[in-house]
Amino acid sequence: MARSFVGEARRRGLGRRRERIGPIVARLADEHADAEIALRFGSDVELLISVMLSAQTTDANVNRVTEQLFRKYRRPEDYLAVTQEELERDVYATGFFRQKAKSIRGSMRVLLEEFDGSVPRRVDDLLRLPGVARKTANVVAAELGDAQGIVVDTHVRRLSQRLGLTRHDDPVKIERDLVRIVPRADWARFPHLLIWHGRRVCHARTPRCETCVLADLCPSARLTAS
Ligand code: SF4
Repeated sequence: MARSFVGEARRRGLGRRRERIGPIVARLADEHADAEIALRFGSDVELLISVMLSAQTTDANVNRVTEQLFRKYRRPEDYLAVTQEELERDVYATGFFRQKAKSIRGSMRVLLEEFDGSVPRRVDDLLRLPGVARKTANVVAAELGDAQGIVVDTHVRRLSQRLGLTRHDDPVKIERDLVRIVPRADWARFPHLLIWHGRRVCHARTPRCETCVLADLCPSARLTAS
């Protein structure tokens, strides 16, 4: 288990998680008003495919690939009208191209057979699509305006631990802790706020605690910069 800053928050008298979460969200929202998903898409299907392609690569790389991809493939049927090999070539630059092409084709088939070609809103339905795991399903549902959980990626995990919002290392357990304290209305934007704060301020190796707007709320302020 990762080093826990939950107890450190108590020792420093910073208040309980439930008391700190409101100001944490408000300050991050002020600081990162532009925090939103970095993937570019023009429809629900394009959103789903972008998120599927983003596994193990950067959003910028996915955007480079999808700029061409979405010109060629406009509807779910289009992904099934080509061979597996052709789609593999078209998504090659995102890495893991064989598995991604297979998952995309499988998902498009299920969309057409079970959901009239539309992307479902419910996480439970999204999880029925081949190759769609919980993180992908949570991202898609949140972007479609119906967040049913909190996305936990590497930034969300690191910042949640440093801020003493969880003692856990496992993403599923971290999500369970976060949904208990983050107001439901903030479930969609909360991960974006942590991701952008992680990219800009709370870097993995050298967090910039001296300029961080959360320093007086953060039990690991200055302790992690070693
Ligand atoms: S105070 Fe430091 S460790 Fe805490 S969130 Fe800010 S940058 Fe990260």
